[in-house]
Amino acid sequence: MKHHKPTHECGVFAVFGHPNAAVLTYYGLFALQHRGQESAGIVTANGPGTPFNRHVAMGLVSQVFTPPDLDRLKGTRAIGHVRYSTTGSSNLTNAQPLMVDCALGQLAIGHNGNLVNAGVLRDELEQRGSIFQTTVDSEIILHLLAQPVDASGVLAALRKIQGAFSLVMMSEKQIIGVRDPFGFRPLSLGLLDGAYVLSSETCAFDLIHAEFIREIEPGEVVIIDESGVRSEYPFKAEKRAFCMFEYVYFARPDSIISDINVARVRTAMGRELARLHPVEADLVVPVPDSGNYAALGFAEELGIPYNHAFVRNHYIGRTFLQPTQLIRDFNVRVKLNLIKEAVTGKRVVVVDDSIVRGTTARARVVNMREAGAKEVHMRISCPPHKHACHYGIDFPDPEKLLANQCTLEEIRDYLGADSIGYLDVPGMVRATGQEEKNFCLACFNGDYPVPVDPKVDKFIMERRQRKDLIVTDEHPELFDKAF
Ligand code: SF4
Repeated sequence: MKHHKPTHECGVFAVFGHPNAAVLTYYGLFALQHRGQESAGIVTANGPGTPFNRHVAMGLVSQVFTPPDLDRLKGTRAIGHVRYSTTGSSNLTNAQPLMVDCALGQLAIGHNGNLVNAGVLRDELEQRGSIFQTTVDSEIILHLLAQPVDASGVLAALRKIQGAFSLVMMSEKQIIGVRDPFGFRPLSLGLLDGAYVLSSETCAFDLIHAEFIREIEPGEVVIIDESGVRSEYPFKAEKRAFCMFEYVYFARPDSIISDINVARVRTAMGRELARLHPVEADLVVPVPDSGNYAALGFAEELGIPYNHAFVRNHYIGRTFLQPTQLIRDFNVRVKLNLIKEAVTGKRVVVVDDSIVRGTTARARVVNMREAGAKEVHMRISCPPHKHACHYGIDFPDPEKLLANQCTLEEIRDYLGADSIGYLDVPGMVRATGQEEKNFCLACFNGDYPVPVDPKVDKFIMERRQRKDLIVTDEHPELFDKAF
């Protein structure tokens, strides 16, 4: 099955110094489930000389951990990970956190992001005798870390990796949080009952009643041990390049990023969109859930009624039958169904956060027409996606991106909409209250903040091809998450 939205990458979480570290990490991963649904894992420890405990499995957090599993994860320190495979196939070997026993003692790592020099580093390491157990780029970091003999060596090892990485790592004495110098992915520090907590998103702090202290700065390495928290800045300073698509789509609306609530940014994007592409209409309908706030802003700005005409089915599991011959557009309807009477005879604006291939957006317009909508206007709360992401987001290849292949008028025609309007880059940036120079916008404008090694492209493509084969066969439901 195909993705109809770009797919989330991964979420990381860590706790240092709490008697219930595993349970807190379990809840933390629960809150981060939207960032990865293929596998989940937790590694715990109790301090120097005690063995690490690890439990990872394929599936959702609620499926991966039973109460006895959590009982076995003893210790006051823990790191956790939820995964969607942007590199490496979707199988248990690649599930994180990864763990190794090396000269430094035991090490575990959870990674959110994508390395752009993974192919080069892996070749070098293999030539020096490293034997890789997985196909994920995160293992490269583990091999680099396994070689140094002191803390300064660890920082030197981190300097070799390039690209997008928010990491949580655990050694026998420390938990370490790392954010790449561009700050592509979020990572925050919190505090609960005197225990320090790291999380990809602040929404996980809310769930466990932890206090949000601050974001980890781009390029910052936070080292947490018995003596407290300290920071190192081992990387060369770079321009900031936070992933704009975290605000548009990936992050949870209740998270705070750069001191701004994500829902507030999405609502502001909807207002900007309404000012850029106003339309006379009777009703604004969001494509849930990620289109909700932008649609609200759009409706408020133009004074048009807002209603949830699409109903999302949150309980989709694996479908063993492939009913496409039997039920036309099953994949579209099973996730979102339309309340027909809400739109019959109305001029409707459908607000979505993005269009990738266009097949789902087209089906939404067809749904509206079949239900008797008088007019259907598509509004998208970010600019057209024309380029690949090399920093951990799994867009289809550019030639499969609708906006890469078609003009605006061709897109409107393909969707069968009466009009179409995308938000532009200035409006999107204004909605964040920040400056354009702080963001990665590469999938919109092709301006890549970190150059991509062509060899790496090959590495990523090989992994993707392998992943497509394996995931599609083993876990068709996982490829059908994001309608
Ligand atoms: S290319 Fe797009 S999705 Fe990828 S990091 Fe940049 S803004 Fe985010």
